[in-house]
Amino acid sequence: MSCKVCKFGGTSMADGNVILRAAEIVKADKERRYVVVSAPGKRFSGDIKVTDLLYALYAAYEKQDSDLFEELYEKISVRFLNIEREIGKDLKVRAALDEAKAAILGGAGKDYCVSRGEFITAHIVAEVLGVPFVDATEFVRFDENGILKEETFDLAGKVLKSYDKAVVPGFYGLGADGKVKTFSRGGGDISGAIVARGVKAALYENWTDVSGFYACDPRIVNSPVCMSELSYSELRELSYMGANVLHSESIFPVRSAGIPIRISNTFRPEDRGTFIVPDAKRSFGDSVVTGIAGKKGFTSITIEKSMMNAEIGFVQKVLSVIGKHGISFEHLPSGIDTMSLVIDNEFLKDGILDVLLQEMKEAVRPDRIYTHEDIALIATVGHGMAKNVGTSARLFKALSENGVNVNMIDQGSSELNIIVGVEGKDCESCIRAIYREFFQE
Ligand code: ASP
Repeated sequence: MSCKVCKFGGTSMADGNVILRAAEIVKADKERRYVVVSAPGKRFSGDIKVTDLLYALYAAYEKQDSDLFEELYEKISVRFLNIEREIGKDLKVRAALDEAKAAILGGAGKDYCVSRGEFITAHIVAEVLGVPFVDATEFVRFDENGILKEETFDLAGKVLKSYDKAVVPGFYGLGADGKVKTFSRGGGDISGAIVARGVKAALYENWTDVSGFYACDPRIVNSPVCMSELSYSELRELSYMGANVLHSESIFPVRSAGIPIRISNTFRPEDRGTFIVPDAKRSFGDSVVTGIAGKKGFTSITIEKSMMNAEIGFVQKVLSVIGKHGISFEHLPSGIDTMSLVIDNEFLKDGILDVLLQEMKEAVRPDRIYTHEDIALIATVGHGMAKNVGTSARLFKALSENGVNVNMIDQGSSELNIIVGVEGKDCESCIRAIYREFFQE
């Protein structure tokens, strides 16, 4: 029998009633055999995700602030005990909480602590569905650098083969030191993709609180178009650039196996959702642009030097400066006598930027070096752009007509995206201008 893997995000696990709703979705299709869950997320705006409470709990433990520790532990306990009450069944939540607390106080570590949201939720869902719980540490493996090991996929297949149905906690696995290790935030999507690849699923269903992938952020443009289909590469570009429906790394496990992903809405399961497939079909009349996403918080360092183009090893010297500090760059647009490096501000805290500038001056003796410290990057993405003459002309005309000043332009060689760098304050108006041009003609 072909099978589907369902991953439910935090809002789909936020309280007992929503969990029951998710369970109905699973039961409505007998091909939905493997379920991966996140920890309970926000129930309303202003609410706190259980994972955030767990991070705070661990910080209190480290600071040895026992009052705060107890206060947070109580908050987390109330969340889970309410879920148990709403479901109306003995789910052994108290015992699970006590066990987690004892292990945290016994030094189990930060990743263990923050993974308990998923662990307890998966036990609850397994109990509600009446199917076995299988811990992610049985097959999700990381190497000593924290990189997911390739063997994870085969191991997932081997372990899960013995279960006709199972519920697996997302977000973590086993580190090289034999301890629990988590993915980056939102990593439950990666766990779902690992399970889908391991069991060779026909479909990876990602259940969330929106009815699919919108052409841009609905907080910026009112009711944007919901895409019916999107390619893996388009999704990767958009999610990397801030469209946060899916973790940007979650496509890798399913992509090589050609398993499509469907984004569905737990609160409107009848909606079609968005399918993410190897090659998205575009019909006549579709926009040449598939989606627009933007991210703030970058700095560009521009270096100018006459005859830069003739100086062998120039770029390499600049890159070795950032490499030495363990910093990676996002973009490297260059001209004949100029080059820029765009770097995420996360890397530039605590005066590091000044150190880099000084070291670059010494390394390449530029004529001029300057920075823009509040850059937003906006990606306009779509396979349709490669075949349509004049797409970039339309994009830049729209930006100039809306008074958006462009600091940097980068077009990927696959012609899948055009990235512009604008001042942080122009991020939203830039996205709106591009949306209007391509979707509201
Ligand atoms: N619970 C984790 C987080 O809040 C992982 C996830 O939801 O995918 O980041």
